[in-house]
Parts: sequence; structure tokens; C-alpha cells
Amino acid sequence: AGAFLSVRDLHVSFRTEDGIVRAVDGLSFDLERGRTLGIVGESGSGKSVTNLTILGLHNPMFTTVEGEILLEGQELTTARESELERLRGNKVAMIFQDPLTALSPYYTVGRQIAEPYMKHRGASKKEAWSRAVEMLGKVGIPNPKERAKDYPHQFSGGMRQRAMIAMALVCDPDLLIADEPTTALDVTVQAQILDLLKDLQQEFGSAIIFITHDLGVIADMADDIMVMYAGGAIERGSAAEVLRAPQHPYTWGLLNSMPRINSDVGAPLAPIPGSPPSLLKPPPGCRFHPRCTFQDRVGGSRCVTERPLLAPDRASACHLTADQKRTIFIEEIKPR
Ligand code: SF4
Ligand code: MG
Repeated sequence: AGAFLSVRDLHVSFRTEDGIVRAVDGLSFDLERGRTLGIVGESGSGKSVTNLTILGLHNPMFTTVEGEILLEGQELTTARESELERLRGNKVAMIFQDPLTALSPYYTVGRQIAEPYMKHRGASKKEAWSRAVEMLGKVGIPNPKERAKDYPHQFSGGMRQRAMIAMALVCDPDLLIADEPTTALDVTVQAQILDLLKDLQQEFGSAIIFITHDLGVIADMADDIMVMYAGGAIERGSAAEVLRAPQHPYTWGLLNSMPRINSDVGAPLAPIPGSPPSLLKPPPGCRFHPRCTFQDRVGGSRCVTERPLLAPDRASACHLTADQKRTIFIEEIKPR
């Protein structure tokens, strides 16, 4: 039997006035129920596009999707809009960075949580309302019975985020996609929301895809981590492996640009120089080569001519040998 969610050789491109943007270029991964996959990358790495495509939220007029997205064996790339509509909110739900993209200002919070429960579960208005109140309680809104009658603007930012999570989980989805859900929140509220997601996952057993640009945010949340760069996965492994012994020069850069919470010296941030390439005309060879300082270790011009791919048996898409990856990380990157 295949994985709960299986993405195979996914390619997503957009037609723009300037040409074709290859936003996702040959991506494969699996996700099992009850597991959390952290997808990490800068903006433009393809992480959000991947997830919008899973949800079928891309614009079919301008977008070409190739490859497979199988959810419990059901192919989503060719599914009808009506079928995707049924899946969204019922089996697959999404939470965003900005809760106001999901919450309407015109209806009470309770009504907005009750609505999908009526629609997908055929619940009566009364049942759905009490489910909404229950969900608000589960996500930690005090006095949920009263607060359900409030409008989103009467909630604080952190509470709106909780309300959106309640709305996403009201139908007990099997897959929850969280796209930078805590980026706009202060550190304390961010930690509370992450804890909440972990607890809810325990209770509901959902698979979670957690999208972030910040490795630190998902350090103790993800089971597995996939690092994306310029439309492809460049490193993948268990969270412990990727955080303790990352293998790809780009991941080293991400790690170095992360504030170390437990470090006694306030380690200076070292952002990766340069910026991600344009996906209108991606660089040849390794897409990271214009920013990589390790090309000479590979030798020749391989980095510029040959694109390293992430094979299932290989945790990182880089021409350095396994030995080099290990030694360089231990001797040159780690001891900061
Ligand atoms: Fe750097 Fe070459 Fe590895 Fe790409 S393949 S990350 S350019 S060393
Ligand atoms: Mg994004």
C-alpha cells in the first residue's frame, strides 16, 4: 500500500508575461498519517505553490501541473473541482499566516466555524454551533460560549489564529497544511500555537505539512524535514538528522542564519549571501551554485553543468561526497 500522501515528480509551472515560471520542478515526497513534515525554504522556493497545488487552489488557466499527487491512492492533479471542493475543509484543511484571509469580517467566529461542519458533515445549525463552541474551547479560547458570538475584529491576533485553527480542524481533517501559521505572531504566542498544534495532532491524528522559512520554528514540531530551494527538494531526512547533521550547503546556510536560543553567546546571524534565483531562467547545474562557496571542493565545473538530484537513497542533492559533507559540516560549519 502507498503512503497516505504521495507526491511523485511534481512539476508546476505558470505562464506569465515574461515567460514560463517553473515554480516546482520535479518534487517527490511521502507523508504518513499522524506525522508532521516540515517544509523549509525561502520565499520563491516552491513550498507554498506545492501546497496550493495539493489543495487544487492554483489557477488552471495559467498553471500547468504534471506528476502525481495521491491522497490515499486518489489522484488529485486530475480530480474535478467539485471533488477537490469536497476534500477541502473535510479531508484536507489549511491554515495561513494571516487569519483574515480565512475569516470573514462579516460573520461571527462561531458561525464561520459551524459552516463547514454543516456543509461537510450534514450537521444541523444547532449541532454545528455547539461543535463550534467545543472547538473554540479546544483551541484555548476562554469562555468559548460567549466568544463564539464575537466577530473576528473583537479577537486578538493570537486568538484569531486559534479561531482559524478551530475552523480548519472542525471536520477532523486527515491532512492539515499550515503555511507559516505563526510568522506574524510574537514569540510567546507562536510557541503556544505550536504546542496547540502538537496537542491537536495527538488528539486528531492528522498528518501535518508545516511550511516555514525558519528551521528553528519546526525544530521540535516536525518528524521529518524537507528543505526546498528554487523549486526542488535539496535535503530531506528525519528532523533530528537534518538539524544535527545537515548535508547540504544551503541547509548549512539556513542553520547559520538561525538565532541560537540556547547559546550562551548571542551568536551573530550569518544570512546566506545572494538571493534565490529567478525561476523564469533558473541557473544551469546546481541551482544553488551562484551562492555556494563549496564548488571548488567538488572540482571541475560539475556544479555548473550537472544538476544534482535528490534520489530516494540520498538525503541531499549536492555533488559533494558523503565524506565531504560530514567533514565540512563538523570542521567548518558547526563550531560557531
Ligand atoms: Fe554547492 Fe556544488 Fe553542492 Fe550545489 S552541488 S550545493 S554548488 S557544492
Ligand atoms: Mg509562502
